Amino acid sequence: MQGQVESERGEQLGFSDALRGYGYPIHERDGFRCVYCGLDGTQWPNWLFLSWDHLLPKGHPLRDDPRYIVTACRFCNEACNRTQFSVDGRTPEEIIEIKKKAIAGVRDAYYRFWEEKVARRNG
Ligand SMILES: [Zn+2]
Repeated sequence: MQGQVESERGEQLGFSDALRGYGYPIHERDGFRCVYCGLDGTQWPNWLFLSWDHLLPKGHPLRDDPRYIVTACRFCNEACNRTQFSVDGRTPEEIIEIKKKAIAGVRDAYYRFWEEKVARRNG
């Protein structure tokens, strides 16, 4: 997706990348926060780690509908990429809740790994 993108304030954003261009209006709508873990992109450098996440699988007719695209940090975006669940008849909010639970489980597993193998290197 390229070309002119407009922010909620009507500013023209002349960028073609996700953060400054096509993803900006979605991030702005979501308050620059990951909808899954709450990572706050209004803080530097968190913003660099925001991405946009499709709630619907490839081939779904509503996949590119902005209501079904949300702000996610890169970790949450990738944490449940391969998780399969039925999206039929579900609202964006319902899909977010399902993914939030799945991502929280993955995050916990990563946390345990980090705690054991990474955290103590600083101590
Ligand atoms: Zn996140």
